[in-house]
Amino acid sequence: NVDDRIPRISSSIRVIPDFPKPGIMFQDITTLLLDPTAFKDTIDLFVERYKDKNINVIAGIEARGFIFGPPIALAIGAKFVPMRKPKKLPGEVISEEYSLEYGTDIMEMHVGAVKPGERAVIVDDLIATGGTLNAAIRLLVSFGWICSVNTTAVMLLHGLDNGTDAWLERVEVQVVECACVIELPELQGRDRLGDNPLFVLVSST
Ligand code: AMP
Repeated sequence: NVDDRIPRISSSIRVIPDFPKPGIMFQDITTLLLDPTAFKDTIDLFVERYKDKNINVIAGIEARGFIFGPPIALAIGAKFVPMRKPKKLPGEVISEEYSLEYGTDIMEMHVGAVKPGERAVIVDDLIATGGTLNAAIRLLVSFGWICSVNTTAVMLLHGLDNGTDAWLERVEVQVVECACVIELPELQGRDRLGDNPLFVLVSST
């Protein structure tokens, strides 16, 4: 009993082989955006799922999480928090490093954008290996409150060597779910999300 909006969403996504490099089947959601019905149905499906779940935060991952996240946030009355590439946010940030196919990247979020106990949904267009969502989860979920009890002891406990302010500013947010338009199930990205649930509209091979 698949929702009958799903096939239209699925067929509106263009697949471009060998972009940005050989071997990658790029799932291009810009063609979904050109179809106002498919775009609206995409947003509606997420809104229907999250509207009555007391979600305070939609955390959108740069760049395509910035397309799908804000309309969902507006519709359910949640705030939108951008999770950005490094050196883009002007205020004090916390950072998480994560691995890419070649090398590493960094994701940043403004300190104070989320508060302890808030309930968040993380939004991106696509999950491949799950490394990006894993970093976003780590940005939102941590042990900052224990930290204020005895910083040195807690840092030693967690094997951390220096106490940056950023680390101290972390707060524990409840990640209710990760939400993507597309999953590439062969890459088993789901397995890198631990116990955090993943909701997707379309699976692609
Ligand atoms: P990953 O961290 O491996 O799960 O990669 C997910 C991130 O990379 C998302 O932000 C996607 O936009 C992008 N991405 C990875 N693979 C693809 C693909 N085949 N088509 C489009 N975007 C992709």
